[in-house]
Amino acid sequence: MATVGQENARMLASLLGIEEADAAERLDKTVRVTVAAGFAVAGDEVRDLLDRTIRVADLDEAEPDLELVIGPAEPATPGPHIYASLTQRGVIVDAIPLRHSNECIHPLLMALAACHIAAAALHRVIGSSSLPRLSLPLSVDFAELGIPKGSLTTPFDISGMVLVGGGAVGNGFLRALRHVPVRGILPVVDPKVVGEGNPNRCLYFTSDDVGLPKAPILAQAAQPDFPDLELKPHTCTFGELVAKTGLVDTAIVTVDSRRARRSLQKEIPRRVIDASTTDARAVIVHSHSQPTDDACLACIYRHVPDEHARERSIAEGLGIEIETVRAGFITADAAARIAKAHPSVEAGKIIGKAYDTLFKELCSAQALLTPEGRQVLAPFAFVSALAGVLLVIELLRTNHQTATTNYWTVDPWGAPIGRLRRLRPRVPDCEFCADDDARRLVHSLWGRGA
Ligand SMILES: [Zn+2]
Repeated sequence: MATVGQENARMLASLLGIEEADAAERLDKTVRVTVAAGFAVAGDEVRDLLDRTIRVADLDEAEPDLELVIGPAEPATPGPHIYASLTQRGVIVDAIPLRHSNECIHPLLMALAACHIAAAALHRVIGSSSLPRLSLPLSVDFAELGIPKGSLTTPFDISGMVLVGGGAVGNGFLRALRHVPVRGILPVVDPKVVGEGNPNRCLYFTSDDVGLPKAPILAQAAQPDFPDLELKPHTCTFGELVAKTGLVDTAIVTVDSRRARRSLQKEIPRRVIDASTTDARAVIVHSHSQPTDDACLACIYRHVPDEHARERSIAEGLGIEIETVRAGFITADAAARIAKAHPSVEAGKIIGKAYDTLFKELCSAQALLTPEGRQVLAPFAFVSALAGVLLVIELLRTNHQTATTNYWTVDPWGAPIGRLRRLRPRVPDCEFCADDDARRLVHSLWGRGA
């Protein structure tokens, strides 16, 4: 099954169109991170992100493959170097030393900057022209984020919201949320267990957590970062939680499939704040509040023919029917049949896993090789972390009702560009919006005067 290193190598192999072994070699690199006083938060974030993908050198490492210098510090090695300059306006990463000023920067902005600095460092050490384009200087302007004035420092109660999904983006969301003053109670919902490749991008998980349920592991690991917020884990689906505890005001959505998002829409949360990643190429942010005449979560993640192809190839690869795959999670009966077709698989260990997850693991282990494997590839840590930061920013924007758009795509290898925000319309054949009963229910639940 997939180790952390294999998961990263497979992602890179897919990005570059090379063999996994060659990709593993390209990731066998050392980066030394030198951090100026006052930039420790950014330095620690960058180290944490890089450490899950390549090797971060000890401070006595004299000849790293790259030395990354953050803030006004002197390089400690002959290089090669890249330099990052952080100010209240933004972050610049370049191959030459930069001008600096000593300014106090909010830690959430440091966390965002860290994702872009990690991207630039990774791009430089991998050094392939087949990677998505990243040109230096890379300049990220914090004004593009559209963060409402004062919202980073104004305490707020998050009770009434639910974090749906405790995977990579769920981890990234909590890592980012710890930097803003929140209080209250936040349920964390996920029916799955930690997979062997997960720690490559889930910063609250370690290899000791593999096989344990995600929700309680995440809640326990993240809790010390939240003195005024109680994280309450639920090992079940969002639908099961709603059945137990009733309607949810705000769903913070980080689940990993389009199908799961559409089924979540049917539980009719008043507000949805969602972020997803497309392998390592894009981060997509969506939000809406009901009632809306614009796109819902099921409009944004409407059924596309590709999904059939992927489900078919998962079914064929695992030796089961496509209807069984559509059920989402592996039953005891399906596990027995899969184990029969794949001697390396132990039936008892895969019951309750998502088909996507098993498929991804078998792909990483080279047990299955199909073009559709790519669609379920896990991104690098910095991509999931960026999705988490953008999710927190979208939460602040919708809290302050400054969100007049509902869709944003951000290139994790580039800079966030505010004018790329879109207001996506409703899709005429959306399986949720086109259902008159569902629309009526929305208005009676969340309409004016409801
Ligand atoms: Zn819709």
